[in-house]
Amino acid sequence: MDDKKIFVTRPSMPSFEEYTEEIKSIWESQWLTNNGAEHEKLKKELQDYLGVEHVELLTNGHMALELSLQALGLKGEVITTPFTFVSTTNAIVRNGLKPVFCDIRPDDYTMDPDKIESLITENTCAIMPVHVYGNVCQIEKIGEIARKHHLAVIYDAAHTFGIRYKGRGIAGYGDASCFSFHATKVFNTIEGGAVCCNAEMAETFGKKLACLKDFGIVDEETVSWIGPNAKMNEFCAAMGLCNLRHVNDEIARRKLVNDRYRKNLEGIEGIQLNAVQKDVTPNYAYFPVVFDKEKFGADRDEVFAKLKENNIFARKYFYPAVNAMDCYKEYDPMETPVAYCMSHSVLTLPMYASLGMDEIDRICEVIRACGK
Ligand SMILES: *Cc1c(COP(=O)(O)O)cnc(C)c1O
Repeated sequence: MDDKKIFVTRPSMPSFEEYTEEIKSIWESQWLTNNGAEHEKLKKELQDYLGVEHVELLTNGHMALELSLQALGLKGEVITTPFTFVSTTNAIVRNGLKPVFCDIRPDDYTMDPDKIESLITENTCAIMPVHVYGNVCQIEKIGEIARKHHLAVIYDAAHTFGIRYKGRGIAGYGDASCFSFHATKVFNTIEGGAVCCNAEMAETFGKKLACLKDFGIVDEETVSWIGPNAKMNEFCAAMGLCNLRHVNDEIARRKLVNDRYRKNLEGIEGIQLNAVQKDVTPNYAYFPVVFDKEKFGADRDEVFAKLKENNIFARKYFYPAVNAMDCYKEYDPMETPVAYCMSHSVLTLPMYASLGMDEIDRICEVIRACGK
């Protein structure tokens, strides 16, 4: 048995020299946070890279979600997905809003637009879908429903950095899109996040966000809203500037990992690989695999355990579904049967740019040996 441990992810980092070069100017300016030069530079570069008119940088992706909802001044119910990281739902609840869970599509795991309208009540104020694993939601259908019922659409775009849909950056869709720049994401600022929106939204919503992330302070003598502290500091922005120089290469290398996995696992009965979507330029953020025990011969938990025995650490991501978690026990996970089923049968395999081809082959060999 090969003993070298393989973890599910490994953060992308610039060289030590590149980073230290980038942070030199911080010693010269002695400006550590509060919209410093690195922050402003990263903001502009991200606007270009993501192809969006406004970017508001924040401490993390969770605050992007939480402050977007607060900045819109919403009240009532928000339709969302249970097949996500718990942050999405927590952001809704921590704003005093009520999450209403909509089931997902079985092929790309995003919110099923055909199931949204039956969940709309007079209290519904917004839809918060998730481009899960980097799979783009049914943007047109969701937008149509939102317009018809006058609902805001805030995308959790934490998995979608750099993705383009129909030739346009994903950040430009919906009323706002929220990104995470956490260490484990395709692009990282160590910890960090951003809210993106168009120029029209930036006028009111964007300006409010800029105050909200700084306690709600408008100027020295005016505090208009009750905000937390969610500002990105200069060291994180500097990391972002370095990583942004390499992100295209990062995605290209992830594609090689993706292709190798597909070559190994495609066509095996009972294994469902991630959807390949039309009109989408992907970022290969994750490699989810869904196991059908009847057809494959082993279920997700058996494969997970076997991989672990072989020092390979995959993740049951997302398990449990959010509406099956302890803190959301007033919900019945069986009300979203597809999400329930997927959360019990999906495994995300190790995925990062420096994962070796031989390591991928070793992972796939262990998986294949679990089958019948
Ligand atoms: C990572 C993630 C978040 C939270 O982002 P942080 O930067 O870790 O706060 C929210 N939603 C989804 C879907 C995520 O994957």
